[in-house]
Amino acid sequence: MRCPACSSLDDKVVDSRTTDDGTAVRRRRECLECSSRYTTFERLEEAPLVVIKSSGDEVAFDRAKIVAGVALAAKGRPVDEHVIEAIAADVEETVRLEGPQVTSERIGRAVLEALARVDGVSALRFASVYKGFDDLADFEREIGLLTKN
Ligand SMILES: [Zn+2]
Repeated sequence: MRCPACSSLDDKVVDSRTTDDGTAVRRRRECLECSSRYTTFERLEEAPLVVIKSSGDEVAFDRAKIVAGVALAAKGRPVDEHVIEAIAADVEETVRLEGPQVTSERIGRAVLEALARVDGVSALRFASVYKGFDDLADFEREIGLLTKN
């Protein structure tokens, strides 16, 4: 790490601790040339998640698209924005574990499952615009499975 004071590359770590939320390691470093102290943070590099659409196109995962889709399906329903955010975060976590590539169909299914646990009407609406099903029979079977519990 280059010293911000003298640009020397020689330093030593004088203190190292995990941040309160556990997502980073904070290190206090001391320049061996001029004894300046500075701080660095080490974080996990988030791997990119690629979504494969039914057309075969690949796009970067975008959580905002899930939020927008769920918000549309839940419009006028008693599903508040925090719940929508939580669904999007859950789906992201699920598909990231399955990544680095995931199909749009898989994402749609994960959203549908999460939404069905919150509000059946919203889930039905989401499913009706959701392109992952090949035909209506698939869609009805899925809804049957989701509403059984
Ligand atoms: Zn220095």
